[in-house]
Amino acid sequence: MIESSIVVRVHEGLHTRPAAHMAKLAKAFDCSLELVCRGVAANAKSSVKLMLLGVKEGDEVLVRAEGQDESNALERLMQYLVDPRSGLEEAKEGTAAQVDAGAVPTPSQGAAEAVGGNCVEGVAGSKGTAIGPVHVYLPQPLVATRQVIEEAEIPAELDRFRQVLMNFVRPPADDAGVSAQDRAILQALVDVAQDEEYVGAIIRGIKGRGDAAAVTLRVGEVLAATFEAMADAYMRARAEDIRGVTRQLAATLLGQKLPDLSRIDTPSVLVAADLSAWEFAQVPIAKILGLVCTGGSATSHVAIMARTHGIPAVLGVPLSADELRAAHTLAIDGDAGRVLLNPDAGQQARARARIEAQMKAKAALAEYRDLQPVTRDGRAIEVVANLGGLNEVEIAREAGAMGVGLFRTELLFMQQRSLPTEDEQATVYRQMAEAFHPYPVIIRTLDIGGDKPVAGIDFPREENPFLGWRGVRMCLDRPEVFKPQLRALLRAALVGNVRVMVPMISELGEVRRVRELVAECERELQAEGTPSAPFELGIMIETPAAVLQADALAAEVSFFSIGTNDLTQYVMATDRANARIASLYRVEHPAVMTAIEMTCQAARRAGIWVGICGEAAANLDLIPRFVEMGVTELSMSPASILAAKKRICQI
Ligand code: PEP
Ligand code: MG
Repeated sequence: MIESSIVVRVHEGLHTRPAAHMAKLAKAFDCSLELVCRGVAANAKSSVKLMLLGVKEGDEVLVRAEGQDESNALERLMQYLVDPRSGLEEAKEGTAAQVDAGAVPTPSQGAAEAVGGNCVEGVAGSKGTAIGPVHVYLPQPLVATRQVIEEAEIPAELDRFRQVLMNFVRPPADDAGVSAQDRAILQALVDVAQDEEYVGAIIRGIKGRGDAAAVTLRVGEVLAATFEAMADAYMRARAEDIRGVTRQLAATLLGQKLPDLSRIDTPSVLVAADLSAWEFAQVPIAKILGLVCTGGSATSHVAIMARTHGIPAVLGVPLSADELRAAHTLAIDGDAGRVLLNPDAGQQARARARIEAQMKAKAALAEYRDLQPVTRDGRAIEVVANLGGLNEVEIAREAGAMGVGLFRTELLFMQQRSLPTEDEQATVYRQMAEAFHPYPVIIRTLDIGGDKPVAGIDFPREENPFLGWRGVRMCLDRPEVFKPQLRALLRAALVGNVRVMVPMISELGEVRRVRELVAECERELQAEGTPSAPFELGIMIETPAAVLQADALAAEVSFFSIGTNDLTQYVMATDRANARIASLYRVEHPAVMTAIEMTCQAARRAGIWVGICGEAAANLDLIPRFVEMGVTELSMSPASILAAKKRICQI
């Protein structure tokens, strides 16, 4: 056993994301690892236990390791604790934390509504004014129908719990129209649901003859109460995350369905008791005018997410469920933290005037919405959206997307408990194409690998999943998975604007084999009499091999889309999740920029167009260089579109 003490330099201490990150680092080692703070020891592989230690920046902690790889493990954790910003993920966390802090509304005099009898004060969660009909989300408290099970039922009950947990814990979508910050929060919640201590306590309870739902509710409540008792406001706010995860698990175990938040179809002010970030992620954001919660605080994850999406929010509002149910209209002032219940005509007029003023402030960018951006010397650039599902279509259209440059179909596969059928896929692809017609919609074929499991495909454990059986490599080996997707795409191509691109191409043979499979699918569909149409086929350029053979590849495809996220990783031989080498993971690096330029030159020689669909496409500093190189399409998350259009017009 070895141990060493150190002063923690993690900004704001071990809150959710750093704790989740540290637990992930710890889990990579076989030895046992403990963190001791103020005399209390916690399993370093449990993010929940780490959070409960309440470690602050500047605290002295002891790291203890015991096992074969103890010295490497100790060194790695010490390095993280003392220099979290040496790594990319930590740097991102730092940025997110600053964004959070900066965006927390401070009560502003001008924005405050005169306090009347129908005015309730809460906590300012996210700036802005909203008014609208109320959508109440107040699910009945979950009650376990039984407490104790028979000894003989234990194995089946354990299986039932594990199954529910497995279905629940899906990695958050890579780019489901949510910001990187939302993704980090959701990943942290997934980590809670996978936490050794949380899950371990439930499993122990079931083994002790507890009913799975009853034990889950009990463990969740004890843990939530422990968080609530903490001195730190941020940590107290984590109780609602634990309750949110617990509620979802327990409802499934009880065979109950929580009200479906994804079905909100009228623009509304969403009213809830304590909405977890998990629940909020299911909400169709475009339909939410504002958010009011009786629980929560400015540091709630739900507040952070509301700020990210620019949704005015007031939290911690002291109203009972009955009072909330009695409200038909709410006006909320997210700057002052006030809610007006059933506002009178004068209050409504003032709220609407404020909303108008706020909208005008955004108008400077909004004027770019329907504009096709053209550089001053006359080069038109397509600015299109990266999407993960149909639920983001509206946001993308409202953000001014001129089509879709990357539809990540893997999300469709990851969200299901089994592989989506050809019919299910054809419906989604067709609806996506119709939503943007006549603008083009580029659908990417399945890009999954050993790091992202999908129900229905057996992935082997791999030493290097990013260099392994992923993307087109897996698809070509598994035609029974790939062909239904290609057939669905050919069927959706009837809409007329569908293009298809293939990820992770590293040799010409892969393109040819994809083409053969497409031709085979076309023949089958024709023979069956199923209507279909051909589509343009392009490839993603994200491996150095593809760059170095770009001339040969360009001769066989209709377009290139450069995936700078992976291209940077592979050109620089830099795993972007590895904190130690994060300074090498830079798209601006001359090596990566040269790779992009070589790709553009090959495209120009072959007379095909080239776009960029990695994060770099939205980089305002790089956009002029990309345009200069000959890129004619930039695909990005909807939130970045307006600023990118403006930037192009300035070139
Ligand atoms: C990329 O690699 O740049 C890309 C857009 O694909 P993904 O991020 O989905 O791997
Ligand atoms: Mg990629």
